[in-house]
Amino acid sequence: MVVDNKTRPEAELSRPHDQYTRTISPRKRDPQRGRQAESEAGLDHYQVRSWRAWYAHITLSMLAHAGAVSDASQCGGYDKQDLARRSLLAHAGKRRKTERIEGRLVKSAPEEIILGDVSVTRIKEFYGSVEMTPAEFFPGSTPQSWEQHRDWLAPDFWNPGTNEVRVALQTWLLRSGGRTILVDTGAGNHKERPYAPFWSHRDTDFLDNLAAAGARPQDVDLVVNTHLHTDHVGWNTRLDGRSWVPTFPNATYLIPQRDFDFWNPANNNPSVFGRGNQNVFEDSVTPVRDAGLVQLWDGVHRIDGNLKLELAPGHTPGSSVLHLESGSDRALFVGDLVHTPHQIVEPDNNSCFCEDPAEARATRQRLFGLAATTGALVFPAHLPGPGGVQVERRGTRFAISDWAGFSRIS
Ligand SMILES: [Zn+2]
Repeated sequence: MVVDNKTRPEAELSRPHDQYTRTISPRKRDPQRGRQAESEAGLDHYQVRSWRAWYAHITLSMLAHAGAVSDASQCGGYDKQDLARRSLLAHAGKRRKTERIEGRLVKSAPEEIILGDVSVTRIKEFYGSVEMTPAEFFPGSTPQSWEQHRDWLAPDFWNPGTNEVRVALQTWLLRSGGRTILVDTGAGNHKERPYAPFWSHRDTDFLDNLAAAGARPQDVDLVVNTHLHTDHVGWNTRLDGRSWVPTFPNATYLIPQRDFDFWNPANNNPSVFGRGNQNVFEDSVTPVRDAGLVQLWDGVHRIDGNLKLELAPGHTPGSSVLHLESGSDRALFVGDLVHTPHQIVEPDNNSCFCEDPAEARATRQRLFGLAATTGALVFPAHLPGPGGVQVERRGTRFAISDWAGFSRIS
């Protein structure tokens, strides 16, 4: 099903929407530049209303659609500011072109948010239904609670018509301290997933999307796998003939020791995922380990002055969170701490894929509590819409006080 602006009534696109239309004054950066950029790029309703949009600026815009980055070398080593300026000028007055195609790759212009000295770019691999109802995906949630929040969960996060959850699959591209860093690597292409067919034999343009953001495979310095589920390690490797080889040959892959041990088939650990992760270790972890690219870590791992990894177990034993602290800006890249914003307003609801339900709840409370206290933006791996949230505490629950400024995926 094609879902794009042309097929959606104008009233729906511009309807008052508490969760999207909150307007908060910009905190830092040059707000004048932000307004100018929005005007030039013709950004849509949601972006203009989101305060983080003041920070966002388009880098390569629609060059990918025009085929101008078919040679990825044009993207490597570009002058970011100049490219952003040229891109904005080239497309002045035009609306962003984003393909909104349910259930497959989402290709769109890359955007960047600046937090302190770190840039954050969203690299999309997939958006659509995961062919699971809320009750299947989140067994603790009730139909009534989804209905209660229907006005903002639908349509981006839930299709009430089919009663299916919608998610994104995205990699966070960070540039910090001169290094290019990927947080999670999605599902990958051509993987054999006999017990997780949804992620099997994908064939997406993920690497083109990455190149459009200026990162060729050889440019990547660090890969962070928040955990080792099939949809977080896929692009660790690519198929070369009959062999799986590291996609990012110059990168160090940071993998939590506890997940490495838990998912190592030699240890034969039972999982709530059943055999869903079959083949994952062999085709997406072992090749990078054998190439000498893996660095296992446990507890806390400092990446640089802006970034720090910390265990956040529950979803899996080695699930982790990447803390960004730069200047007064804060962000948490939380992997699968949540799969839907419904879990923010009802944080006791685990996904059916959480290995330790009690620990998953405790970790969710801890990290959202931290985010509420510090004002950190929270970036999950699967959140569509604007990609990230800011939360505030409501007793033992949380509310969404704002959204990140990435353009809405829907
Ligand atoms: Zn996931």
